[in-house]
Amino acid sequence: MTQLDPGKLTSVDEYGDRVHIIPAEVKGFFRRHRNWTQIILLTIFLALPWTRINGHQTILLNIPEREFALFGVLFKAHDVPLLFFILGAITLGLAFVTSVWGRVWCGWACPQTVFIDGVFRRIEQWVEGSYIKRRQLRDGPFSFEKLWKSSLKWFLFTVVSSLIAHSFMAYFVGAKELAGMMTHVPSENWTYFVLVVVFTGGILFDFGWFREQFCVIMCPYGRIQSVLLDQKSLAVVYDQKRGEPRRGIKVDNGSNGDCVSCNRCVQVCPTGIDIRNGLQMECIACTACIDACDEIMTKVKKPTGLIRYDTLDGSKINLKKPRSLLYLLAIVLLLGGLTYAVSTRETAHLAIMRGAGLPYSYVKSPSGAELLLNQFRMHIQNQGSSPARYQMTLPAEYAEKGVILQVAENPLNLNSGDSREWYFFVRIPQALIESNGQFKIKLQIIDLIEKNNFSVERDLIILGPRS
Ligand code: SF4
Ligand code: SF4
Repeated sequence: MTQLDPGKLTSVDEYGDRVHIIPAEVKGFFRRHRNWTQIILLTIFLALPWTRINGHQTILLNIPEREFALFGVLFKAHDVPLLFFILGAITLGLAFVTSVWGRVWCGWACPQTVFIDGVFRRIEQWVEGSYIKRRQLRDGPFSFEKLWKSSLKWFLFTVVSSLIAHSFMAYFVGAKELAGMMTHVPSENWTYFVLVVVFTGGILFDFGWFREQFCVIMCPYGRIQSVLLDQKSLAVVYDQKRGEPRRGIKVDNGSNGDCVSCNRCVQVCPTGIDIRNGLQMECIACTACIDACDEIMTKVKKPTGLIRYDTLDGSKINLKKPRSLLYLLAIVLLLGGLTYAVSTRETAHLAIMRGAGLPYSYVKSPSGAELLLNQFRMHIQNQGSSPARYQMTLPAEYAEKGVILQVAENPLNLNSGDSREWYFFVRIPQALIESNGQFKIKLQIIDLIEKNNFSVERDLIILGPRS
């Protein structure tokens, strides 16, 4: 059985090979609260794609269709610059939280932690037993028990990975669309089928096998911790003053610190570190060692909190640190910018294009006069949160000059988020065409549903022969 050595990283052996960490189970205040947090987060992750706000999926990131919905607000490809505000606010939000509360994201909310700790490790425990039994199984020779337990475990891992991959996919293609695809044979949706298989494989690899290695060697957020944390940030810390010299270290006056060298804090650590060596980049602030040490302290009748949440310099949490305030200010500015941009953007997006073929042609009016005809198509999309009824008109001054607007469907009904090609023709007396072969008119588009409050004008150039 692999012995835990508090002086080195337990996820690597003396030859530098990976040692699969099997952390000991732990009970306590933080474990209980993390259990509830994980249940809530998992429920949100699975349920969110099935919820809708303003008729749109609550979170939808449909990249192929270039359609994004966030909490009832719809974004299209032309809104991509707004992503700058959203991604900036998320990044700075994480930096702000880290500067004050340390790696609380890693230990409590990161999908890597939530899925491994809240799902995969629980399956493992259910199939293979306690950490002691699992370590015996890991280090023991090949046996029938090892074979069937391992097979069952990996089968369940695969089922769960597939479920997670499907839920993840629902954020990108839409929950209803995904459910529809699942009722058809894979060959009808090859791309999505292959993507789900790849995601399932990736999740299985990461949550089932790679685990803490991702946090330790790959996670970019983990890499930048040293920049985001300072002495006043909250972290899981070991009270060296109180704990040292720990039991087993000979001291002249015979009075050791409170640490009884039980190694329990190391045994429960999912990244295999010894928090008594000080704050380390591998620590994901999961609080398991706090619960473990509190349990031991209670047993030896000493005050709990030898390992605890604390700032590195022992001061109180300070939200008013210049760095945190700067993050906060930048977040407020970005969210303000986003709110302004969303609230002032037009609730319909219009793009007018000329029809295919000749720029103009001649037609006869009912009275027999010859008129010039230009054909157009308008791509119109309802970006508002409610249905719209668009009407296209010409200002009266043009009608007086004999300009006639003919629209294929007028008014045009569009549900929120829907778009259409709207075909229309403009006929004008040739006499109106100026010497440069053009005549400018204005087109009005209004939403007949009053509460939507949409009314715009667009310039339109009618082409004809130059004189
Ligand atoms: S040192 Fe403690 S808080 Fe950090 S990862 Fe290990 S068990 Fe979790
Ligand atoms: S659990 Fe507490 S008492 Fe035990 S080794 Fe860790 S710090 Fe020392």
